[in-house]
Amino acid sequence: MNAPISPRTFRAFGRKDIATLPAFQRMTAEQRDVLTAVAHVLPFRVNAYVLDALIDWSRVPDDPIYQLTIPQPGMLASADLHQMVDGVRGGASPDALKAAARRIQRRMNPHPAGQMQLNVPRLEGRRLDGMQHKYRETVLFFPSQGQTCHAYCTYCFRWAQFVGLDALKFASREADTLTRYLGAHPEVTDVLFTGGDPLVMKTAVLRRYVEPLLRPGLEHVQTIRLGTKAPAYWPYRFVTDRDADDLLRLFEQVVRAGKHLAVMAHFSHPAELSTPVAEAALRRIIDTGAVVRCQAPLIRHVNDDADAWAAMWTKQVRLGAVPYYLFVERDTGPKHYFEVPLARALDIYQDAYRRVSGLGRTVRGPSMSATPGKVLVDGVAEVAGEKVFVLKMVQGRDPAWAGRTFFARYDEQAAWLDDLQPAFGRDAFFFEPGLRQMKASARALPVLQGGTPLDPTAPEPPGPEAAQV
Ligand SMILES: *Cc1c(COP(=O)(O)O)cnc(C)c1O
Repeated sequence: MNAPISPRTFRAFGRKDIATLPAFQRMTAEQRDVLTAVAHVLPFRVNAYVLDALIDWSRVPDDPIYQLTIPQPGMLASADLHQMVDGVRGGASPDALKAAARRIQRRMNPHPAGQMQLNVPRLEGRRLDGMQHKYRETVLFFPSQGQTCHAYCTYCFRWAQFVGLDALKFASREADTLTRYLGAHPEVTDVLFTGGDPLVMKTAVLRRYVEPLLRPGLEHVQTIRLGTKAPAYWPYRFVTDRDADDLLRLFEQVVRAGKHLAVMAHFSHPAELSTPVAEAALRRIIDTGAVVRCQAPLIRHVNDDADAWAAMWTKQVRLGAVPYYLFVERDTGPKHYFEVPLARALDIYQDAYRRVSGLGRTVRGPSMSATPGKVLVDGVAEVAGEKVFVLKMVQGRDPAWAGRTFFARYDEQAAWLDDLQPAFGRDAFFFEPGLRQMKASARALPVLQGGTPLDPTAPEPPGPEAAQV
């Protein structure tokens, strides 16, 4: 029925390969210098599948996958770009280039929303740095071996980690810490493995984190989620890689243990769903009993048109996957290059939404993962003579906030929750007093010895365990 897929061997390419990669020989030497200069500042990692099978080189530089994976000159301020290009051309030392890049990176808001302190869970009085627990029912776990990806997205909100600005702040090797934390938190139903991309890990390594969650005592953990771009950037992971079959056996094992395995697949553009190997990957994942749910941010130059989203949602449904979230890009990195105002994001979302059947309308968006919670821009309306955004909090830092509808003054330019003002002359959104209180109590937390690994022989730190926020 289907032609067999020929295996490929994974190899990542980066800045140092620009001079020799055949794909970049179509560029002029000057264009390669510019790319090298930008790649000193922003993450750059690709592989042969992305370069040969996903990018349409006849459409470069406008090709969406080229924009998605190859750093662009417009992502830097022009003075910064000139400085880096001069450095590359003038043969500046690696140290000088790195120092110049660091200065530029630090000005690019590498840590948006400053919510790290608010989300860090604690166990036996210590911070667990490789985990986040923001919403009551879901814990995020960042396995240290999964802190890279098969290729990098130019808009990645974790870009600071990939350029070495964060010394793998979010990383844990401790499967045991995760299971002990979950044992102490019966309210948690979902564990999300994220990164980077947890599926860059060999199956044997992933298994060491996943299998303990299937044991007695953790029955309250109903769902294991894997946040991944592998079906888009390296579908061979599920089809022909040496441990692809073993990975699928692990998925089956989770399902047989009575849990839901959710592959949270990041698809940015329909081109990523267009190849035989991508289709084969989804088919094989779904055959294990796992459910593939699809999400991505809306990004100028990549997918800021309704055709792209309607095609993606339609194809996802046809392949048996479930459209889940359309996100608003976060306020970090080359945000000016990618930004789409909320009003336009809503237009694109609604235009695409109207073109798919009800089975594609499982999607929610445009959704901002903001400090108080996930906030949907649900529509524009006129209420009591005022034009407003109808907003809905679908996840709240306080669980009581979830499901609440609220209103902001319509603003054509606003691109994030922080840009919005409450409607009807109110001076604050409903969540603001509570959020202020949470921030104050997080600041009041004792400064505790941080970080994994937990050493069971270490003396107990002083003070009572502080309230979780
Ligand atoms: C989106 C998100 C989740 C999961 O939310 P769902 O709506 O259940 O998919 C969990 N934690 C964080 C920090 C998130 O941003």
